[in-house]
Amino acid sequence: MNQQPLFPTPDPLQRVLYRFWPSQRLNMDPLGGFNTLDRFFPVTIANWKMISPVSCLMLARRVPHPLSFRSDARLTIVIPFRDREAHLKELLPPLTLKLAEQGIRYRILVVEQESGRPFNRGKLINVGFHYAQADSDYYCIHDVDAIPVEADYRCPSQPLRLVTRLLSTNRPASICPTHYFSGAISVLKEQVFAVNGFSNEYWGWGKEDDEFLFRLQLAGFLCYFDSHGAYHDLPNPKAQQVERPGLRQPAHMRHNRARRSRLMRGLIDPAEDGLTTLHYELLAREHHGSYEKIRVKL
Ligand code: UDP
Ligand code: MN
Repeated sequence: MNQQPLFPTPDPLQRVLYRFWPSQRLNMDPLGGFNTLDRFFPVTIANWKMISPVSCLMLARRVPHPLSFRSDARLTIVIPFRDREAHLKELLPPLTLKLAEQGIRYRILVVEQESGRPFNRGKLINVGFHYAQADSDYYCIHDVDAIPVEADYRCPSQPLRLVTRLLSTNRPASICPTHYFSGAISVLKEQVFAVNGFSNEYWGWGKEDDEFLFRLQLAGFLCYFDSHGAYHDLPNPKAQQVERPGLRQPAHMRHNRARRSRLMRGLIDPAEDGLTTLHYELLAREHHGSYEKIRVKL
């Protein structure tokens, strides 16, 4: 039988259009306009960089599961962390206020990487998943520099990105792209374990969040974003400023991009890299008033 391609490969002109006018990609996504409760929309995967047999598989597995929320679930906020004390200080008061207002049963777990190796956000988050699993029904993976202004921390039935509007005093306000899946993500524990968590292999900056989205989509979970979600995005400290990709990217960025595309070409099996292969050494545990911090060697 002659099957229609699920995701037609765009021609070169369309690629340019999608690159500079991302909202056009929405038209290519069959679930682009699907919405629940007038506020939550599926994260789109209509991104021309992802056209491959694997992305077609992802599309095939996308079923419009509606989003709902349940109450009385136990939340662990997992914050990957290194050298951002000032950000953590600024984050905790508004975060704990929001959680209390919403009546959430929560704990906050800061997972700090010891100095030495390049930062590994995905692996730190895996450590948080593993460490807190006995007391959690769902997690919120939370960047330390994302300060909630309007945020819904309830327990979602499908993975949910909480951040959409980025407000900032230093940069102009902006809207996250519809295929972005990072910043603050709430996800059920069973969904995290079903996809084997994050990859442990993204060192330095970038792309581990894309891989986590692909893992969830490949497992048939429909990921959402909250169109009302608004956060302040604090500027990174000078020493941790990410160099914007120029003509020649730093080696770790090229490595991370290449790894992500190997996944999209079906050359990496998430079952072989993630929570099941996680190794780390617990160096210290500290209990503070509203949060716990663990320091780990990766
Ligand atoms: N992070 C950290 N120390 C670092 C790099 C990253 O604590 O040296 C954590 C922190 O939670 C931060 C998140 O990883 O919010 C994302 O990193 P970053 O802010 O550099 O990325 P951006 O979102 O600014 O591109
Ligand atoms: Mn940042």
